[in-house]
Amino acid sequence: MSTTGIENIIIDEEKDRAELIKRYRALLKTCRPILKEGDSKNIRKAFEVAYNAHKDMRRKSGEPYIFHPMAVATICVKEIGLGATAVVCALLHDTVEDTSITLQDVEVMFGSKVAKIIDGLTKISGIFDNNVSLQAENFRKMLLTLSDDVRVILIKLADRLDNMRTLDFMAHQKQLKIASETLYLYAPLAHRLGLYSIKTELEDLGLKYTSPDAYTEITTKLKKTQTVRSRFINQFISPIIRELDKQGIKYTIKGRPKSIYSIYNKMVKKKVSFEEIYDIFAIRIILDSALETEKADCWRVYSTITDFYTPSPERLRDWISTPKANGYEALHTTVMSPTGKWVEVQIRSKRMDEIAEKGYAAHWKYKEDGSESGLDDWINRIRELLENPKPDALDFLDEFKLNLFSEEIYVFTPKGDLKTLPVSATALDFAFEIHSELGSHCIGAKVNHKLVPLSQNLKSGDQVEILVSQKQNPKEEWLNFVVTAKAKAAINNYLKDQLKVQAFTGKKLLEEKLMKLKATLSNQNIKVLLDRFKIEKEEEFFAKIANNTIDLNQISKIKVTNGLFEEVKETQNKKKEFEALLAKLRGNKNEHFVIGGAVQKIKYVLAECCNPIPGDDVIGFIQKEGQVEIHRLNCKKAIELMGNQSNRIVKTKWTEHESIEFLAAVKITGFDKKGLVNQVTRIISDELNVNMRSISFESNDGVFEGTVLLYVQDNNHLKGLMNNLKKVEGIVSVNRIEGK
Ligand code: MN
Repeated sequence: MSTTGIENIIIDEEKDRAELIKRYRALLKTCRPILKEGDSKNIRKAFEVAYNAHKDMRRKSGEPYIFHPMAVATICVKEIGLGATAVVCALLHDTVEDTSITLQDVEVMFGSKVAKIIDGLTKISGIFDNNVSLQAENFRKMLLTLSDDVRVILIKLADRLDNMRTLDFMAHQKQLKIASETLYLYAPLAHRLGLYSIKTELEDLGLKYTSPDAYTEITTKLKKTQTVRSRFINQFISPIIRELDKQGIKYTIKGRPKSIYSIYNKMVKKKVSFEEIYDIFAIRIILDSALETEKADCWRVYSTITDFYTPSPERLRDWISTPKANGYEALHTTVMSPTGKWVEVQIRSKRMDEIAEKGYAAHWKYKEDGSESGLDDWINRIRELLENPKPDALDFLDEFKLNLFSEEIYVFTPKGDLKTLPVSATALDFAFEIHSELGSHCIGAKVNHKLVPLSQNLKSGDQVEILVSQKQNPKEEWLNFVVTAKAKAAINNYLKDQLKVQAFTGKKLLEEKLMKLKATLSNQNIKVLLDRFKIEKEEEFFAKIANNTIDLNQISKIKVTNGLFEEVKETQNKKKEFEALLAKLRGNKNEHFVIGGAVQKIKYVLAECCNPIPGDDVIGFIQKEGQVEIHRLNCKKAIELMGNQSNRIVKTKWTEHESIEFLAAVKITGFDKKGLVNQVTRIISDELNVNMRSISFESNDGVFEGTVLLYVQDNNHLKGLMNNLKKVEGIVSVNRIEGK
């Protein structure tokens, strides 16, 4: 922080020039991947303008001033992922404020877009340099008013990062002001925008100047414990590395030190010493995966890790399936190492890693191949993140937090404690959030002192008081309106326990009843009863006996042989018969399932989608054990079944005549004339002696359309009937249709 030595740097101009050329080349190299036609000419021009404007200026460090805008431009590209426009603006960002260049000059040379951004940047720094202490809310408003183009905010962040990196040379008071502002305004802003590495660096640097002692203590201790920690991490990852290599997975693995600021925060918040928390380890595995397989690959690695180490069940975070609101994607888990220490493991693909570090810029880069349209989308998105017109001006920082997870709401207890709940959480969720006892006995709530039902949806800022009664207990209906996992689990647990208690009693009652019938409580007998009462789960069945929903007297008449119900034998026989039939049908080309055949006693149903009748080409579909569903061969459903469940299809034919009648649907169109409907019905029922199930006609401008459902014996019968109808004067077409 001393200023000695500055003179030496100032006179060493040759060295400056060499350094300048080196830095300029580095900047161009950084920009190369994002450049499009004309960009490099523009950047060159911006550099020359800035260089000449700042020519005689030096930073407090003694360096040529131009190094700063160049550094800001580099950050914009490398660490935020911005494009050429931002580079031009970053290079020019201090010219209008600090040199003789005017905004008009910029507009003439670089156009209105660049000029607008420079204008915003100039105004922002004008406000800060006037030593105004901004309230957070004002800062937000200011950012929004001054930045039509959100690039202003991003370049300002880059500017701030470079200033923090070179803060050493500032006067102490100035350091304090800039560092606190950084912690208070800029780091949360970076976090909000998903720029994690910038946020972390800003925080660490902020701490360095606001609490230098703590910063030094933590950095020194981190260094001292480095060897021990590395050894631990190496031991921890060695079996994982071996296994991943064996599987041929491409990855990089990093022991991830916690940020200095986060360690400091933990020490302050939990009032513990460095020694008590330094051994929180974290590693990050970054996979070199294609977009299509990255999710599966991440889970594969997760599975490998948990083969070696036991995961903490409540510490698995899947931000791949549901990314965070600011775009963050990764798989986090915490596992137990053999030495009894928890290790946090983060698994993500290269793409996800880049998004985590650079925010949405990287996201759009992947989506749109870095095209400007993708960038614009991102910039709009940032604008949305920042714009949040709320009448009651909450603190800026709180608002950041409120929106970072826009799927969450913040509500208060009567004592003013803050609780976080998901959006659409109800008063009942809130009750369970505080305590499961409170939730279980909840009968209502007061939201902002007004009485509301349990199912009331809460909003951010609500103050909620829960009303209870010891007589109240969780109800099944509650599951319809709670959303938190905690509430659902508590209600389900209670219901399950209730069910268990009832089931236990019910089972006892059943056993007694069966004993009287000389039947056993065997699985086969229970299965018969479940079928009879159409209940799927044993436990539910027993519970229903206990609460009298099922009357056990209904089973008094079942015949019992050797302790088993007669039906047990029957079902077994049927099953055997069915299996034998299937084997026969599959083993022989000429074997068919015969519909209505006397030999086969297998149940069949005629599919309602196509109403097959004898004579139609049909197939059979084994719907469930012992039941075949018959479809017409050209029915849509049949085609689908043959396509994807061909193993359950059986060859099927009709039996030679039997006096069964089948339902068929016929569509008739024609010209409406008096008495036509009568004539049609008369032909069908009188002349042909066919039963109709229904008939419907619709007439429109002299044209009628009708559908008749009738019972026929077979296909030939139907064809004859249709021919007769066609002969009626006025009828134009008669067609068989699918369905009813
Ligand atoms: Mn600057």
